[in-house]
Formats: sequence, structure tokens, C-alpha cells
Amino acid sequence: MSEKSLTDSYKKQLRENFEKVRAEIAALSDSAILLGATKTLSADIINYAVDELSLTYIGENRVQELLSKYDELHKENLHIHFIGTLQKNKVKYIADKVEMIHSLDSLSLAKEIDRQCKKLSKVMDVLVEVNIGGEESKGGIAPSELPCFTDALSEFENIRVCGIMVIPPKCTSSQCEQYFAQSRQLFESLFCRQGKKREDYFLSMGMSDSYVEALRQGSDIVRIGSALFGKREYQIN
Ligand SMILES: *Cc1c(COP(=O)(O)O)cnc(C)c1O
Repeated sequence: MSEKSLTDSYKKQLRENFEKVRAEIAALSDSAILLGATKTLSADIINYAVDELSLTYIGENRVQELLSKYDELHKENLHIHFIGTLQKNKVKYIADKVEMIHSLDSLSLAKEIDRQCKKLSKVMDVLVEVNIGGEESKGGIAPSELPCFTDALSEFENIRVCGIMVIPPKCTSSQCEQYFAQSRQLFESLFCRQGKKREDYFLSMGMSDSYVEALRQGSDIVRIGSALFGKREYQIN
């Protein structure tokens, strides 16, 4: 699964990376959640980060991969989120294992999450993935359709809509920050209203190359992989 192994030098590197990233986050936010994007990493590396570096949130991208490491993970203080594209027919494998799904982008997927969570008597926290750059190749709801989409989700009793997740197009730092600013406005227009408590809602944005910009624009959850764990040999989206 991973080319990385838990050598002493890798442990040292991990510790340095975590310190650096945490310091940068702390300089910009006092409440943002650091979520380790742990695709391709083995359970022993994740467990090291959990046990020794106090990582408390991870995000996995692929159902099969999550299942293969799930039993081994040290789950006592761990919040497991799902951040990748989710196929309807695989919801049943993870509904009992994850606490939040960041990538809800269709009503048919919502329906299946609702159906599986009903069986578990569980209400799933979800974020709606928004295609903030309007990219054809990307999943996510168009910004203009978001109000209508979130309205439609209110019929599902076993889903709690907690905010939005965005992945901006590949771009310069200042363009990226603009996409994040737009995302924040969209988020605020829907979730920061009378009768809603701000701390119940999450704006999930920012990755290794963009978390500083995202935090400047008020991100609540930064999803960071390579800046913490080192470069991945191959990419999965
Ligand atoms: C891989 C991934 C990340 C983290 O990417 P890095 O560039 O390694 O920080 C964040 N969000 C999603 C949805 C991802 O798939």
C-alpha cells in the first residue's frame, strides 16, 4: 500500500513536519481542525501519528483502502472521515466506520447514505462538495445549485448537513485564496444564519499547498497529506 516504512529517520521527519504545520495553523486559527489525509499510508504509520504525534482526525479516500486498514487503526481517540469520491454501492461498507463524509455531491448518494444510516440508527454528518472552480472534470455541486441542493437534503432524517468541502482548481496562491473567499461567502450565506450555531458547521478547505490561504479565509478543517507524511508515489483523488 505504501512505499514508506516507519524508520527512525521517517519518524523524525514526521515529527518535524507535524510541528511545522501545526505552528502555521496555530498562527492563523485557534479552532481549525488538522485532518491528516492518509491515503496510501499504512496503518502503522497512521498509528504512529495518532499515538506519538497526537493526530486525532484522519481522512481516507478509498473505501477498499479504508477497510483494509480499519481493524488495525488505534481508534480510541481517532475521528475517521471520508474525503474521496464515494460510490453508492460502497456506502454500506463505511456507514458504521466514519464520522463524517466530506464528498456528498448527489441526491442519489444522499439517499443511500440515509438508507444505510437508518439501519444503524445513526445520523451521518456530511459536507456538500462544491465545485467552486466550475471544473468539468470535477465532482461537486455548482455554487448556484447549492441552496436548492441543501434544501432537498433536509428530507433525509439520517443525514445532518454540516457545511461544505471544496477543492479549488490548480492555481496560484492568490487565485486559490480568491476561490476560498468565494467558498466562505457561500458557506456563510447558507450556514451562518439566525438560529444556527457557528460551531456546529464546518468549512473544509485547504490542502498541503494551500492551507495557509484557506485558513486566512476561515477554513475549519484543513485536509493535509504530503506536508505531514511526505510525498506520495502515486496520486489518488
Ligand atoms: C489527498 C487529498 C488531500 C491532501 O492532499 P495533499 O496535497 O497531500 O495535502 C486533501 N483532500 C482530498 C480530498 C484529498 O484527496
